[in-house]
Amino acid sequence: TAPLLTINDMSIIFTSPDEPDIEAVRQVDLTLTPGKTLALVGESGCGKSVTARAVLRLLDRNADIRTGEILFEGEGGKVDIARLKPDSDAMRAIRGAQVSMIFQEPMSSLSPVHTIGDQIDEIIILHERLTPRQARERTIALLDQVGVPGARERANAYPFELSGGLRQRAMIAMALACTPKLLIADEPTTALDVTTQAQILDLLRQLQDDYGMAMLFITHDLGVVAEIADEIAVMYLGDVVEQGDVFDVFRAPRHPYTQALMNSVPRLQRKAERERLSPIKGNVPSPKDRPQGCAFTSRCPFAFEPCADTRPARTSLPGDHVARCHLLTRTRAEAMA
Ligand code: SF4
Ligand code: MG
Repeated sequence: TAPLLTINDMSIIFTSPDEPDIEAVRQVDLTLTPGKTLALVGESGCGKSVTARAVLRLLDRNADIRTGEILFEGEGGKVDIARLKPDSDAMRAIRGAQVSMIFQEPMSSLSPVHTIGDQIDEIIILHERLTPRQARERTIALLDQVGVPGARERANAYPFELSGGLRQRAMIAMALACTPKLLIADEPTTALDVTTQAQILDLLRQLQDDYGMAMLFITHDLGVVAEIADEIAVMYLGDVVEQGDVFDVFRAPRHPYTQALMNSVPRLQRKAERERLSPIKGNVPSPKDRPQGCAFTSRCPFAFEPCADTRPARTSLPGDHVARCHLLTRTRAEAMA
């Protein structure tokens, strides 16, 4: 399948009047394919939400896409989102129309003063020539599809009248109202209890099958990745340090940060190993203090001579598996010597 969205060499800078620029995202390459889910994984502040917001051109004023392209195969042909003005018609034809986003907190996209039915109707009418009555029938069908019981009555409810799980379903219905080609989900299940979380993940998988949309799923939870993703990209301090097929990366993580992340998650480990949990030592440094070379140097148990000063290159591993670590090239060099 041809990719829907290809991010090439994208760097995002945060500027501030009296301090040096901070590179929040550094030379990231990502590909999103129809019908597939890419999980963007990492600790808070690693650049995953910034990356997602760049795709929608919803970056804060002090953030700037400094290099790279975001190629989108949309309804109007191929466009480079990185070159569009955030408030242009071309961008509006993509944002909320072909790409929609759901968040951890539904109240950030639902209005508290309108019923959920009215809010979903409005989006449908914005995108299709339907009468209000036809739009409401579509809204009810959508709410039904996302598992809101008694959809016809619930359409008249205000967000505060719904449980957290139902609000999340209503937000998903709203995101689907424009039949997006790409759904960006930023920690959509993080605030939910385990049972509701599992139901929402099931729902998203089902909807992806029905609609064939691509999904960019942001999470810090590797258990969620195992449930939902086809591919994974692991971010650390603005760098994608490892990416590939979920199965390949989970089976044989090659970057020390990915390895440490996996070792810190009990449910990914065999029972016998649970006693030997190894949380990652130290804290993520501030992006201001990021070393020139490998971002993980200050916490890496394997750091050696080139790590602090020289940035490791993207190294291709068997399959579509890629990682940035000097150990990979050193091993190869030694093997060739
Ligand atoms: Fe560790 Fe060096 Fe590899 Fe970075 S490049 S992960 S510091 S070994
Ligand atoms: Mg975030």
